[in-house]
Amino acid sequence: MAEVLITPQTATAAETAKREAPETTDGFHLVIDALKLNDLHTIFGLVGIPITDLARLAQAEGMRFIGFRHEQHAGNAAAIAGYMTQKPGICMTVSAPGFLNGLTALANATTNCFPMILISGSSEREIVDLQQGDYEEMDQLNAAKPYAKAAYRVLHAEDIGIGIARAIRAAVSGRPGGVYLDLPAKLLSQTIDAVKGKQSLVRVVDAAPRQIPAPESIKRALDVLKSAKRPLILLGKGAAYAQADAQIRELVEKSGIPYLPMSMAKGLLPDTHEQSASAARSFVLQEADVVLLIGARLNWLLSHGKGKTWGAAPKQFIQVDIAPTEIDSNVAIAAPVIGDIGSCVSALLGGIDASFPKPSTEWTGAISERKNKNLEKMAATLAKNPSPMNFHSALRAIRDVLKTRPDINVVNEGANTLDYARSIIDMYEPRKRFDSGTWGIMGIGMGFAIGAAVTSGKPVVAIEGDSAFGFSGMELETICRYDLPVCTIVFNNNGVYRGTDVNPTGGKDVAPTVFVKGARYDKMIEAFGGIGYNVTTPEELTKALQESIASGKPTLINAVIDEAAGTESGRLTNLNPQSAAMKK
Ligand code: ADP
Repeated sequence: MAEVLITPQTATAAETAKREAPETTDGFHLVIDALKLNDLHTIFGLVGIPITDLARLAQAEGMRFIGFRHEQHAGNAAAIAGYMTQKPGICMTVSAPGFLNGLTALANATTNCFPMILISGSSEREIVDLQQGDYEEMDQLNAAKPYAKAAYRVLHAEDIGIGIARAIRAAVSGRPGGVYLDLPAKLLSQTIDAVKGKQSLVRVVDAAPRQIPAPESIKRALDVLKSAKRPLILLGKGAAYAQADAQIRELVEKSGIPYLPMSMAKGLLPDTHEQSASAARSFVLQEADVVLLIGARLNWLLSHGKGKTWGAAPKQFIQVDIAPTEIDSNVAIAAPVIGDIGSCVSALLGGIDASFPKPSTEWTGAISERKNKNLEKMAATLAKNPSPMNFHSALRAIRDVLKTRPDINVVNEGANTLDYARSIIDMYEPRKRFDSGTWGIMGIGMGFAIGAAVTSGKPVVAIEGDSAFGFSGMELETICRYDLPVCTIVFNNNGVYRGTDVNPTGGKDVAPTVFVKGARYDKMIEAFGGIGYNVTTPEELTKALQESIASGKPTLINAVIDEAAGTESGRLTNLNPQSAAMKK
């Protein structure tokens, strides 16, 4: 495939020519026309053979192409755009290695139930299938299948419309996920009759149809809920994704049941809501006798619904989810409610009338007592001003600034930085917190930040551990190039978890967890024309963050914290048995 078919300079000329002689169209135009027809106007990607011209043409045709430095971050941006909008985020990559880099994000999107479509150029089928050694030869379709909700390949230009329609529907209907669309290089330059091409395009009607729950499942759920002595509502990111914010709030407030948000469901109701049981999390999980799960899976993040976390008292679960196979995945579910969250919650609300028993004051009082005790303890920890600054004093400063700007998007990753920020930074609006998600991964930072900034047009504050930041740090250039209002705060304690480990042999190499001491991440953004701050106290951090947000410019705050602060694997020490063994 020739790399340059249409240069930016000649794109307009090519367009004019096409308009003047519209007898034929080609794969390039059909892909773009199909995306636009379905109101998909932004592509996150990275150009190269064979998609450079596709990207150029997309821009020439009025689409937004946000070019990244690594495909994984383009994919993460697309995934978070999908989560925010309920429309599939589009990521475009080159073949083989570019595709594989994007595949990490596609797998992460599928795992998190975010809708996205990874479109990758690929080598010619005839050569790949005979393994004759093409440029970047790879059987991408089969490589994608285990990690995607669906994977399709289009071989004929007249099938592009239907291929994109299938990809859109697969990404957003039912449980959302990542879809792979394989476009061999030869397809893009195939020409067909323009009228036939136009007719082949498909505008997807009702891509994610409502799924109404069975009335008997609602009755069963209400019966179980009514029998509860200590009920609890657990909101997951599926509930945030569903955009049924008003119904969910009504369900919580009308029923009077205390609720817990999972990390990305924070802000669905403001974290300061009096029914929030976040500050008494361990207590309510152990003591509740009926738990209503809304868009949350009983995976490792909820200790699989069993064990110490959930206490000894017998529990009954009601689970609202769009995916029937999620039910009974870890423990028995007494009352499954299958459908879309908006429809399910509305139906449940129908049964929550004046006769619905309110949770006892014994239960709500016990929660309040725990909550107040824990909040007081936390306030005392946050009020301390150690020197050097630690996670808590730094996060207090950030919390107080963000409180004044509830509309700001927050991206958060790291080990300790994630654990502490999740509980200290309050969220006030839905779908404003984007984090390590279901896998608990590092590397989503700058991709999510760019995706959130581009999609919302609002500022983003990315709260990053220094290790986590490293995975996507080069995207600072992307942030500067598009002049995005992203403030990245790097919690710099000189290493993974912390910077104090030593090489026990006394050798020249530092310990595996240690980075360059006193690194100045703020200088990185200055290299691209952004604004850098180096701060060592909460006061300096407050000032830098306020200035950053007010500027609306790309900024990076290198927040120097105590290098001894931080625990191994954050709160996941139980998943790191080797480290426990080494400390013995
Ligand atoms: P968390 O990590 O916040 O606990 P999960 O990602 O584990 O949340 O769970 C999200 C759940 O929400 C998934 O099981 C998914 O099937 C479900 N879900 C996503 N969108 C919808 C929707 N519109 N209606 C119903 N369930 C949904």
